[in-house]
Amino acid sequence: MLGVCYYPEHWGIEKVEEDFRRMKELGIEYVRIGEFAWSRIEPERGKFNWEWLDETLDIAEKVGLKIILGTPTATPPKWLIDEHPEILPVDKYGHKKNFGSRRHYCFSSPIYREEVKRIVFIIARRYGKHPAVVGWQTDNEYGCHDTVRCYCQECKEAFQKWLEKKYEGDIRKLNEAWGTVFWSQEYRSFREIELPNLTPADPNPSHVLDYYRFASDQVVEFNKLQVEIIREFSPGRFVTHNFMAGFTDFDHYKLSRDLDFSSWDNYPLGHTLVFMKLKGMEQNPFDRTGYPDLISFSHDLYRGMGKGKFWVMEQQAGPVNWAPYNLWPGKGAIRLWTWQAFAHGAEVVSYFRWRQAPFAQEQMHSGLLTPDSTPTLYFQEIKKVFEELNTLDLHESVKSDVALVFDYEADWVFSIQPHGEGVHYLDLVLRFYTALRRLGLNVDVVPPGVSLDDYKLVVVPSLPIVREEYLSVFEKVGGLLVFGPRSGSKTESFRIPKEMPPGPLKKLIPLEVIQVESMGLKHTETLRWGGKSYSVNVWREMVRSDVPETLASFEDNLGGVFKNKNVFYLSFWPPVEFLTDFFEKLALERGLIVKKLPEGICLQKRGRFTFVFNFTSEEIPLEIPKDTRVVLGSEKIEPMDLVIWEETS
Ligand SMILES: [Zn+2]
Repeated sequence: MLGVCYYPEHWGIEKVEEDFRRMKELGIEYVRIGEFAWSRIEPERGKFNWEWLDETLDIAEKVGLKIILGTPTATPPKWLIDEHPEILPVDKYGHKKNFGSRRHYCFSSPIYREEVKRIVFIIARRYGKHPAVVGWQTDNEYGCHDTVRCYCQECKEAFQKWLEKKYEGDIRKLNEAWGTVFWSQEYRSFREIELPNLTPADPNPSHVLDYYRFASDQVVEFNKLQVEIIREFSPGRFVTHNFMAGFTDFDHYKLSRDLDFSSWDNYPLGHTLVFMKLKGMEQNPFDRTGYPDLISFSHDLYRGMGKGKFWVMEQQAGPVNWAPYNLWPGKGAIRLWTWQAFAHGAEVVSYFRWRQAPFAQEQMHSGLLTPDSTPTLYFQEIKKVFEELNTLDLHESVKSDVALVFDYEADWVFSIQPHGEGVHYLDLVLRFYTALRRLGLNVDVVPPGVSLDDYKLVVVPSLPIVREEYLSVFEKVGGLLVFGPRSGSKTESFRIPKEMPPGPLKKLIPLEVIQVESMGLKHTETLRWGGKSYSVNVWREMVRSDVPETLASFEDNLGGVFKNKNVFYLSFWPPVEFLTDFFEKLALERGLIVKKLPEGICLQKRGRFTFVFNFTSEEIPLEIPKDTRVVLGSEKIEPMDLVIWEETS
């Protein structure tokens, strides 16, 4: 099913009916509205202007469109900021952020939380049972523009209370946990603790990690306030939030427990450029399509959070305005992205936005229509997708034999002490994920601590902090279990474990990491395995090992791949080529069907359907298995095209 994001307040009520009818003709079923409209709903405190929204919802009902109503809390209006300027957030340099864009609020602010409860209550009470309203989106893109971590006075006081609770009111426990004896950082009371910014040298990593956890909890609490009110006044409607790609500043797993399912905003071209910068890459072979594994990683991540269900709430449908440069998507890309989302289990793909705004910050961000209401080139692609979708019954869910354990806290640990250039958790995760996808394997992305019993292969790119409950799950894994570097390297307090890394994982694989080296992006060492050589950069660990098998090693014998029963440990930053070869061997051992695919070709199964996507600029011949029926496309996949076949037996 398809949707679109729409801003009736930008166009006036006289355009709404015509727009809604055109959406309906295009095949749109869902429309998201309202998420930035606070000043149009409540132009002054207590003075409400409901007419335009009442009419919009009534027209939607008449035309037969389903509405997702956004709470407008990402944009507190001017009168509210003037009344309470303390709502404004403070960045890590100590600068207060001003009114005049969006996300200008502090998640901890007690006053803002009260205002949020008030406006959400008023809107939910008025529209919660409106027949056109089928669901809600809380706020918009929590954390966008670097807004999770605020350094205001309110945050400082809330952080002190958070610490006092965590360390049971005993400052000695905090001093011990953080190792504050180092550089005379010892505290006498919780009231003395500052936020970890503006220090001459790096702040204490334990202090920073606790602050990141605190800041993450603030977002979770802020969201929950809204969800509770919506549930009370809007029974039978779902609540979701539109997360972003590659964004890790708060624990999305924790927040999504309060939602019915997760949604995310898919802008492949911009995200690819940001990711390439992180990897130090200069050439981008996926300039006009986006890096396909980067896109599908988010699909797999958010599907897991939604217990098998997710939406793409904003799907790029033309050039955007916020990337380092903003290309037109390639011909066929919008259709390909839409199908890719459905192949990975999406229930709805909703395009951003209906019509390009001729004013303000996003006037260079395209929509399906130009500002004068002319359909763009991409409009036809969406029409085609809608017609194709009608021929398929996509109710089945995605099943995977492989799980990838992804952890937000791991990302925080890496970012607090990366120890060298190129050391990015997301890069490491994407290497593991890409290798699995090159073998044509479906992958579930899961948090640490959930049951892994049903998987034949479990990969953990890195898990620096291994909590007791995680370990007990790993101990029960019957499939193969692969850990990457830095796993078990820190305690919950961000210290090196007493028993040395990999800490608690020693129970699974008896080895010890004695020392690590970071190598940057240019220094390389050669790893040998299975008669092949692989060039390794970024990271390596010196390992003392009592395990029966060392499968791969470096020329100087310092580290490699270690095996104990069903558990493997990789003591280096593995290149995708190595991981692809290595996982192929493991997958075959466990009876999984794998097929090495060229870069840019992706295979995904959903129920009885198999999808193959061609993100390259070459035509690709395919072998379609027996006992199947092609339902879309053909045996030769054109560039930017796909084929779908269905099992018939
Ligand atoms: Zn704050």
